[in-house]
Amino acid sequence: MPIIGIDDTDSSKEMCTTYITIEILRQTSLDLIGLPKLVRLNPNIPLKTRGNAAISLKLGRGFGNKRFIGVIGEREIYTYEKGQEEKLDIDIPSIIEKYSPRDEKTNPAVVISNQNFNENLYYDAVRGFVDYRKIKEMIPENNYWTMNGEIGLVGASAAISWPEKITTFELISYLPREKWGGEHYVDDSSAKYIEENYPSTFDSYDLVNDYNAIRPTTKTPVLFGIRGTNYLDLLESLKNIKSEQFESFIIYNTNQGSDDHIVSRKVNEIQLYHSSKIVVDVLENPISMRGGIVKVKVGDNTGSIDAVSMEPTKNFRNIIRELRIGDRLEIYGGTTKPGIINIEKINIKSLSKEIVLEPPLCENCKIKMESSGRNGYYRCRRCGRKGEPIKREIPRKLKEGYYEVPVIARRHLARPLKLGVIV
Ligand SMILES: [Zn+2]
Repeated sequence: MPIIGIDDTDSSKEMCTTYITIEILRQTSLDLIGLPKLVRLNPNIPLKTRGNAAISLKLGRGFGNKRFIGVIGEREIYTYEKGQEEKLDIDIPSIIEKYSPRDEKTNPAVVISNQNFNENLYYDAVRGFVDYRKIKEMIPENNYWTMNGEIGLVGASAAISWPEKITTFELISYLPREKWGGEHYVDDSSAKYIEENYPSTFDSYDLVNDYNAIRPTTKTPVLFGIRGTNYLDLLESLKNIKSEQFESFIIYNTNQGSDDHIVSRKVNEIQLYHSSKIVVDVLENPISMRGGIVKVKVGDNTGSIDAVSMEPTKNFRNIIRELRIGDRLEIYGGTTKPGIINIEKINIKSLSKEIVLEPPLCENCKIKMESSGRNGYYRCRRCGRKGEPIKREIPRKLKEGYYEVPVIARRHLARPLKLGVIV
């Protein structure tokens, strides 16, 4: 059965790669076999459009169990458990040519395959950098199509190769064509209601920063997207959303919230574009820098690195500011500049004792001694007697355990703590 992989039909300003799914299903007479896949790839690669999303879908003549997963116009969309081989009855490149923006950074690609590709391709594309020329050698020439360069072949093939091991769902609704662009109405309190009342959903509303996260921030065909681990809850939650009218919606199987991008590493193994989990000690107390950046130097027995928390991570930076020399941490994060890891979440394994040194009292004169400035000794300025400082322990404000960036700053692939930790 034809498995279609598509990448990069959006630009920084318009469209959304996932929308092509709707146009394919609108035009084909074939059925969806399994859910359409929405696959996020390496978030650290600069050669990417907005969300670094690719999609994949399998078409055929469906039979067996079917599930309701969406609506296009008046038509209900079902996905079938099994399918019979059928020839593709639509011209996908012409759909992409019609909807894809003409932007030098948009490099659409379609790959059509009769079987899933090896999962290693997916893991390479979500964790590292894959050269599109390697992909070209792998697929027969009449099985792919590109426009404006061939970089998109990586995402299109990676989406086909995603093994769907750690999965979540996203229900995405789309505006009618004539309404694309501009501002759209998606009620904030509906997003908040879903966040608070559907425990299987995630990243709908940032309760701390009052941010509606189901509504896109750029001009796109997407009206809203609800993420979750139970597709029936997503259909149910849809009834609670007050918004302007959507023309279609569909549920995707996704790798969002999978932490598939994260690999356990030693500090000296971290390379540019990696996302890593490192076990480190805090080497220097954190410092606040210009632009709201908080930086803390950490290291293991192989080397050291600056762990940073940028302004968009908001209140999370208050956690990082409270770290102290000697704390033992697991840090999850990505590297887009050498020597730096951008923190996505941390697990504080143990907290060190924070000690301050205070001047001792001179027993003769009953006054506080002053620091001699040498060797950590103190001296009485009246009688000259020497003394050692008093060590006082300050109670730590942090507790051991996991902390994550707020919803407003969360990456698609980052696994929210409420879903449990896997990596
Ligand atoms: Zn004295």
